[in-house]
Amino acid sequence: MLTITFLGVGGAFAKRNHQSNALIEIWNEGPDRQQAPDDNLLIDFGATGPLALHELKDEDGFAYLNDKGRIHFPSIKRVFISHLHADHIGGLEEMAFANRFLYAGFKPQLISSDKILNNLWEQSLRGGLGVLKDKCASLSDYFESHAIAMTDTNRSGLTIRDKYRFTIFPTDHLSIREKYDWPSLGLFIDEAGSGDGAFFSGDTRYDFEAYGSMLSRSKIVFHDVQLFDQPDPVHALLSELKTMPEAIRRKTWLYHFDDTWDDPEFDHIKELFAGFVLPKKRYVIFN
Ligand SMILES: [Zn+2]
Ligand SMILES: [Zn+2]
Repeated sequence: MLTITFLGVGGAFAKRNHQSNALIEIWNEGPDRQQAPDDNLLIDFGATGPLALHELKDEDGFAYLNDKGRIHFPSIKRVFISHLHADHIGGLEEMAFANRFLYAGFKPQLISSDKILNNLWEQSLRGGLGVLKDKCASLSDYFESHAIAMTDTNRSGLTIRDKYRFTIFPTDHLSIREKYDWPSLGLFIDEAGSGDGAFFSGDTRYDFEAYGSMLSRSKIVFHDVQLFDQPDPVHALLSELKTMPEAIRRKTWLYHFDDTWDDPEFDHIKELFAGFVLPKKRYVIFN
């Protein structure tokens, strides 16, 4: 069984929801979901991630994240990094230091493209994590790295528990000179045997031509959304997502939205789409 629980569903500036980081959990035998899963993977861990995880540990079914009132960080086995904006990586320093100093140096696996992992250290984490008492430190002092090389076909990934294939793909979030030249990733998850898939957009502009075939193959879709229109956006606009074929819209859950989501003008969302993702709710993706 594979489930997904969003720690938060907000965008970078949201204050009424935590940022859009999500916890994937995998059980070999299922489902006794009061127990710790056999494996798990955080999709991103932004600036509000530690507070969101602190709240999640008190929710029904997540007691394994609770260590006498504080977050049991070693219970997070893997972290996938989609890109380097702070709403996606801003919690990693706390995770690294907590594991090192409170939990005997436990090292979670950090998963991303080779370029993002390199930039993550050199451009972001090194400022805070680069020195330990009496020595310089590197990413390997805190994390096991699993770098995924982007192949010619842009379809590469890793398989977890011999059953779930996580394929990364580039997203058109920001670019400097040409499309995809600033590294940013989405995830497509395949379940071996069933042929079922699940799509997680990551931060992206609307790019249906690039990922439409993955959307068609998916039983469930999670797509980032910007609720207000804007010229030259860096996220998918609601007005653009409304143009998707109805069959795809109806299985698409929207996340990464601003604080206006409960305004009556968005009441029609649940008729056009699966709806807005609810935070802290465990969604079963594969039984
Ligand atoms: Zn974001
Ligand atoms: Zn972003």
